[in-house]
Amino acid sequence: MTAFSCNHRPDILQKLTTEHFDLLIIGGGITGAGIALDAASRGLKTALIEKRDFAFGTSSRSTKLIHGGLRYLKQLEFGLVKEVGSERAVVHRLAPHLVVPEKMLLPLSDKKGLGYWLTSAGLKIYDWLAGVAPEDQRRMLSKVQTLKYEPMLRSEDVKGGAIYAEYRTDDARLTIEIVKEAFHQGATILSYACAVDFVYDGGNVSGVQVEESYTKEKFIVNASVVVSAAGPWVDELRVINKSKTGKRLHLTKGVHIVVAHQRLPVKQAIYFDVDDGRMIFAIPRGQITYIGTTDTNYEGDKDHVWATLQDAQYLVNAVNATFPDARLTIEDIESSWAGLRPLIHEEGKSASELSRKDEIFESPTALISIAGGKLTGYRKMAERVVDLVIKKHFSDKHFKACKTAQIRFGGHHFGTTKDVRKFKESLYPRAGALGFQDSVTNYLVENYGMEAEHIIAQADADLSSLENALRLIRSELSHCIDKEMVCTLCDFFIRRTGMIYFDIYRVIKWKKIVSEIFQERFRWSAQRMKMEQEELDTALLKVRNFH
Ligand code: FAD
Repeated sequence: MTAFSCNHRPDILQKLTTEHFDLLIIGGGITGAGIALDAASRGLKTALIEKRDFAFGTSSRSTKLIHGGLRYLKQLEFGLVKEVGSERAVVHRLAPHLVVPEKMLLPLSDKKGLGYWLTSAGLKIYDWLAGVAPEDQRRMLSKVQTLKYEPMLRSEDVKGGAIYAEYRTDDARLTIEIVKEAFHQGATILSYACAVDFVYDGGNVSGVQVEESYTKEKFIVNASVVVSAAGPWVDELRVINKSKTGKRLHLTKGVHIVVAHQRLPVKQAIYFDVDDGRMIFAIPRGQITYIGTTDTNYEGDKDHVWATLQDAQYLVNAVNATFPDARLTIEDIESSWAGLRPLIHEEGKSASELSRKDEIFESPTALISIAGGKLTGYRKMAERVVDLVIKKHFSDKHFKACKTAQIRFGGHHFGTTKDVRKFKESLYPRAGALGFQDSVTNYLVENYGMEAEHIIAQADADLSSLENALRLIRSELSHCIDKEMVCTLCDFFIRRTGMIYFDIYRVIKWKKIVSEIFQERFRWSAQRMKMEQEELDTALLKVRNFH
C-alpha cells in the first residue's frame, strides 16, 4: 500500500483523476475524517479532498475536550448531551493514549451560575444521560474542599464546588489519526486540493472540480455521491451548488489564550462562571495553561482567523476576576488560537444561545452537506451521513453496518489507560539515556501512540553529531513526513505537534533548521522555502501580537 506521505501525491492524484468513487467527501476536519473512516470501513469506495491541511479549520482550534457539553443542559439539549456524553467513553476506548480522562472542577458561588442544588441535580442528570460509571460520577464539594482542590480561587466567592468526569484530547491529532485510519481502510485522500465547482450529470451532482493548491492545476473527481463536510465553508459550497436556501450557517468565533503554567498554576482543569453569564475553561497542559473561550459573531475572512486584543483582554479579565492573585496581563500571553463554530442560524438567538446540534442539508441536485455538531460527536454524525448515503443512493447494494465503535486508530493496541501508562514507563529509560525527561516521552506517546517507540529509536540511531534534542525533532519530523502527510512547516508546527501553541519557544528555536530539513526532503525551490517560512512567521506573529 502507498504510504500516507506527501511524497506519494502523484500516485494519489492519479487515482483521484482516473477512478470513479462511490462517495467523495469535501473537507478534512473531524467531520469529513469521520465520514471517510465510516464509509471506507463499510466497503464504499471513498475519496476525501481537503483544501489546506487536515484539521486546518475548526478541528485544530477547539477547547480540545471530549466532553458532554454540561452547559447545553441549561439549554435543555438533552438529546445532544446524551449523544456526545455517551460518545466520550467510546472515543476514549478507541484511543486511550490520545483521549485522556480529566476531572473537571466546577467552583460554585452565590452570585453566578446555577447554585449548589441545581448544579448537583444537573450534574447527576449529566452523568445519568451519558451512562458514566459509578466511580466516575460527580462529587459535590464543600467550600473547604473546593479551595483545597484550587487554592487560587477567590475565597470569598466560593460557596462550594463539584468534580465531574470529562476527557482531554488534541483535536488536530484526533483528526489526523482518523484520516490515517480511513486511508488504511482504503480511502483515497488528498490535502491541498480545493473543491472549486461541482460537476453534474442528469441534474445531479456527479463529481467535483478540484484545484491543486500548488500547481493551480484543475482536475475532476467523479463520484456517485458528494458530501460537503466543509465546516464554516459549507455555505460557500452551497452557493456554488445554487442551493443556499432555507437554513444557513451562523459563524461564531471562539478564542483561547496560552500562558506559562507558572503564571496561572491551576492544579487541574477548571470550568468557571464569568460575570456576563458565560463559562470559561482554564486547562493545565504540561508547561502551560490555556484559557477559553469567547463566543462572538463572525463575518470576516474564514481562512485567517486570529484573536484580537479585545478577545484576549476579555479572557485575561475573566481569569483575574476568578483568580485574583494571578494578575495576568496581555504581555503574559505566549500564544493563542481562534476558531469558528459552524452553527445553524436561529432567528433572534445570540451566539451563545445557538444550538450545537448538527444538521444535514440535501440539495435538489443531491449534494449532501453537514454542519454544526461537536468534535466529540463526530462518529455518530458520520454514521448518520453514511446511513443516509447508502439509503438514498445504494439501496440495491449490500454494505456493512457501521462498525467504527470497534475500529481503534492511532497505531496502538492499548486496551486501557493502564496499558498506556505501562508503555510510557517502558520507554522512560531509553529516552532518559538520550537526556529526555519523562514529560517528553509522555508527549510522544500521547501524540503518536506506539509509534513513539520508533521515533525515539530513530533519534537514538541517528549517528550524527547533532545535539539530542535536534536528533529527536528530526526523527519526529521524518515520522510526520513519511506517515502523516505533512507537506508544510505549518502542518508540522501547528497541527501535527501543536508546538506553536504549547511550546512556542521551541518553534522559534528550531524553525530554521526544520525548514532546511523540509527543503532537503522535498527539494523546495528558494521561492517555496521563502513562502513557507513567511507563512510560519506570520502565524508566530499573529498568535502573540493582538490588534
Ligand atoms: P472543520 O474542522 O472546519 O473542517 C472543515 C474543513 O473543510 C476545513 O479543514 C477546510 O479547510 C475544509 N474545506 C473548506 N472548504 C473546502 C473546499 N472548497 N475544498 C476542500 N476542503 C474544504 N467540540 C468538542 O467536542 N469539544 C470541544 O472542546 C470543543 N471546543 C470548541 C471550541 C471552539 C472555540 C470552537 C470554535 C469549537 C469547539 N468545538 C468543540 C466544536 C468542534 O471543534 C467543531 O464542531 C468541529 O471541529 C467541526 O469540525 P468540521 O470538520 O465540521 O469543520
